[in-house]
Amino acid sequence: MRYIDPHIHCVSRTTDDYQFMQRCGVVAVSEPAFWAGYDRSCAASFADYFRHLLEIEPKRAAKYGIDHYAWLCINAKEAEDVHLSREVIKLIPPLLDHPRVLGIGEIGLNKNTRNEITIFEEQVDVAATHNQLILIHTPHLEDKHKGTSIITDILKNDRRIKPERVLIDHCEEHTIRMAKAAGFWCGLTIYPVTKVTPQRGVDILEQFGTDMICVNSASDWGESGPHMLIDTTIEFRRRGHTEAEAVKVFHDNPCRFFEQSGKWKVKAIGV
Ligand SMILES: [Zn+2]
Repeated sequence: MRYIDPHIHCVSRTTDDYQFMQRCGVVAVSEPAFWAGYDRSCAASFADYFRHLLEIEPKRAAKYGIDHYAWLCINAKEAEDVHLSREVIKLIPPLLDHPRVLGIGEIGLNKNTRNEITIFEEQVDVAATHNQLILIHTPHLEDKHKGTSIITDILKNDRRIKPERVLIDHCEEHTIRMAKAAGFWCGLTIYPVTKVTPQRGVDILEQFGTDMICVNSASDWGESGPHMLIDTTIEFRRRGHTEAEAVKVFHDNPCRFFEQSGKWKVKAIGV
């Protein structure tokens, strides 16, 4: 079966992971800009990071037959520094025409602070002004419900934003309804230790249906891994869902969302 990992931080993964993904049938990935594990000291550091995402990582992925795309932003964790964030935001518009950029992301909230909200709104404005897709990070902390609610309210109140061009990621049982009700795409992040397990992920797919949901590993420098996508597919098939249904969830749904960018080249397999 062919897979797409719609949210993975390849810059922090090993070459073994690329080889593993190739063996499993991963044909394409999308990599949102995120926190490096430490706060960067200046905007120039982000300029290099964006170059890494757009020039270096696609070449590295291509060696393993994987088509690599990226998203640009300043992440919520570093958005607390409003001055630095604005310097970083200025770097983004000139890069938006790059053929590997799918849109603005992963933007959102971490601790739901006033500064995070300010920078989130300013990046939504960049996306709206430049007609970009948006990939949303919802908080992993106990404030996930509140954060998701603030984010979806801001997006719903901006008439320029079309919900089908936004994906609300890291949804869980208690937040997915909020995102789906407003017509947004939803992301499920499957982790070995925290967040959603393969079993819970499949429970959610069975409860909410497979339309407009993308499943990802969000693999980064923490305990995570590209195998979570495969484990979730195994659980999905174990419960009797057909291969065609699996293809829809684990390959075609990301294609449908990403192809709205006009840059995504991987074609959906099903009808
Ligand atoms: Zn991420």
